[in-house]
Amino acid sequence: MNLVLMGLPGAGKGTQAERIVEEYHIPHISTGDMFRAAMKDETPLGLEAKSYMDKGELVPDEVTIGIVRDRLAKDDCQKGFLLDGFPRTVAQAEALEALLAEMDRQLDYVINIEVDKSILMERLTGRRICKACGATYHLVFNPPANEGVCDRCGGELYQRADDNEATVQTRLDVNIQQSQPLITFYEGKGYLRNLDGQQPIDKVFADIEELLGSLSR
Ligand SMILES: [Zn+2]
Repeated sequence: MNLVLMGLPGAGKGTQAERIVEEYHIPHISTGDMFRAAMKDETPLGLEAKSYMDKGELVPDEVTIGIVRDRLAKDDCQKGFLLDGFPRTVAQAEALEALLAEMDRQLDYVINIEVDKSILMERLTGRRICKACGATYHLVFNPPANEGVCDRCGGELYQRADDNEATVQTRLDVNIQQSQPLITFYEGKGYLRNLDGQQPIDKVFADIEELLGSLSR
């Protein structure tokens, strides 16, 4: 079961990744974790990646793909893997295709969790935090009993700068722009499966199970 998971920020990718790992016992390979592990283990590629990061530069694709190659060669990937955050570009996706071909493997599905931008905006800008005790709320999912007031301590609630509309809008636009060519690429390869991420979490996962059912049996 060789999978790539895609979805914009707020689409619920993290939650679904956790559930896939739990149910199918394949490792969740996120780019961040993979880099951190390679640097911690001081592998040659990990050290090379670190030298770029220390300079504040982007890690070149050949280093990134090398780290992916090392990671996919580990025993826990025998039964499959769930890649998350990689590939990020069509060039990386092509490199992944070549790498998997070398390993005599191929992707089964690229699962893309789709949610309308207006709903992502609502999800991503709704967080409120208490100035006094740090309790967190969400205007849609976990609203305080009285608007702007902490249920626990009566403190004033505020919105972090990262969560404001303009910042979130920019972040989403950048992500949409980056992911579009990748979606087109995987659509062309026949791997892409779009799932409706606007349904309840359990229903989204049921759709994933239905999709993956044919692979696991
Ligand atoms: Zn409070």
